[in-house]
Amino acid sequence: MNKFLVSAGLMMLMGLTGAVDAFAAEYRPAVAAHRGASGFLPEHTLEAKAMAYAMEPDYIEQDVVMTKDNHLVVMHDYTLDANTDVAKKFPNRARANGRYYAVDFTLEEIKSLIVTERFNPKTGKPAFEGRFPVNTGIDFRVPTLREELELVKGLNKSTGKNIGVYVEVKQPAFYKEEGKDIVAATIKMLDEYGYNSMEAKSILQIFDYEAVMSARSKGWKGELCMLVEIWDAPYHDKARHEWLLTPEGIAEVSKQATIFAPWFSHMAVPTADGKGYTINNVAELARKHGMKVHSWTHRVDKPLKGFKDSDAVLDCAFKELKLDGLFSDFAGNVVEYLKKNGLR
Ligand code: CA
Repeated sequence: MNKFLVSAGLMMLMGLTGAVDAFAAEYRPAVAAHRGASGFLPEHTLEAKAMAYAMEPDYIEQDVVMTKDNHLVVMHDYTLDANTDVAKKFPNRARANGRYYAVDFTLEEIKSLIVTERFNPKTGKPAFEGRFPVNTGIDFRVPTLREELELVKGLNKSTGKNIGVYVEVKQPAFYKEEGKDIVAATIKMLDEYGYNSMEAKSILQIFDYEAVMSARSKGWKGELCMLVEIWDAPYHDKARHEWLLTPEGIAEVSKQATIFAPWFSHMAVPTADGKGYTINNVAELARKHGMKVHSWTHRVDKPLKGFKDSDAVLDCAFKELKLDGLFSDFAGNVVEYLKKNGLR
């Protein structure tokens, strides 16, 4: 049915009943399949992406890292040892810290690796106990960004749907040290696939403030998302992220970003005993500066701190924080929740 007619019908109904205000009727939060259907299959495999697609999220997420020979591949970590057999296949290729970096391997070498469910490289134990088994011997591989964009394009053609891509550029500062501009390379490829506009169903997301602030000058014209999390990690400017949650930081980043996406617990802050949470003004401030608010990560098998279960997280996300978008390892569960609550 024609969407315009449906909207017009809804507006008339609202006028008659006065029961629903116009703002509520327009509220349609987006669901992003975090690393694909990662709750069910090894993250960022094409298999996990195909399953995610069938769950009908609004976006499927791609994390992008770069190979030695400048190919873009879809992997969450810029190291290879937590979800491939790299340590077995290339035992002498770790850096001094014991980690295997994607940038030290050619595409051909990375394509020779078998991908598995995420595990702890030190202990070999699965990261999520109840999920797909580790080391099944199934021939899962690391996809290139191009393969993944082709998959989504192909499925959009064969289904007639328009499911989008939500592309995260990983570790721009690290790649800069390696002499590579991963942001420019990603923008170039998204542009090639018709994703470089505000009308396209695409979002570029980055944790790196400088990279977000310079993405426009590198040619990005679409939705631009600033990811925010206060934590200690290499190539992650913790002080910068603390500032990004202040009124000054939010005002500044809103000059470039269209979406502000802090970690959920930076907006629904767990109480000291971990049994509840309080909502701060971060989401409200971001909206005041014209940005949409997205967050992460919903997991049925691991609710965020301060919440008793998955539905409690979703109630907070969509009834209290009124998020414009949410990442989930279980996108299908979020879509079901939204349907049950009249938001689909
Ligand atoms: Ca990501």
